[in-house]
Amino acid sequence: MVKTEERHQRLKEILLSKKAEVEKDIRQHLARQIGPENEHRLDSVLDQGDLSSIDMGEGVDLALLEMRNKIRKAITLAILRLDEGNYGYCEECSGEIEEKRLKVMPFAQLCIICQRKKEELEKIEREESIRDTDSA
Ligand SMILES: [Zn+2]
Repeated sequence: MVKTEERHQRLKEILLSKKAEVEKDIRQHLARQIGPENEHRLDSVLDQGDLSSIDMGEGVDLALLEMRNKIRKAITLAILRLDEGNYGYCEECSGEIEEKRLKVMPFAQLCIICQRKKEELEKIEREESIRDTDSA
């Protein structure tokens, strides 16, 4: 069990640092735009996902911010799932997804082996559909 615990801890560190990164990004983006009177509201606004409710003035790329906020929420969910013991396992074979892989793609749902298989299958399907259109 110690090994699982260690993995859990390392995955959590990965997720927390990703979350801190994206939050820093959001704050930096907003720091110049929102007044100090809005800054304390930022966390709750981000949690509700209703960024348009703060007056951010012009020059804010709302679409970009919303995308970042989506990532932030997804990471928060991943951390919850990790605590429940449901994060970092392959949806296909239930094996552990490599830490290296999760570091680069925290939302990966397949291990590298299943991912490759899937891509291989998709490639075959694509080729088959091209052939189908050709013969039609
Ligand atoms: Zn797998």
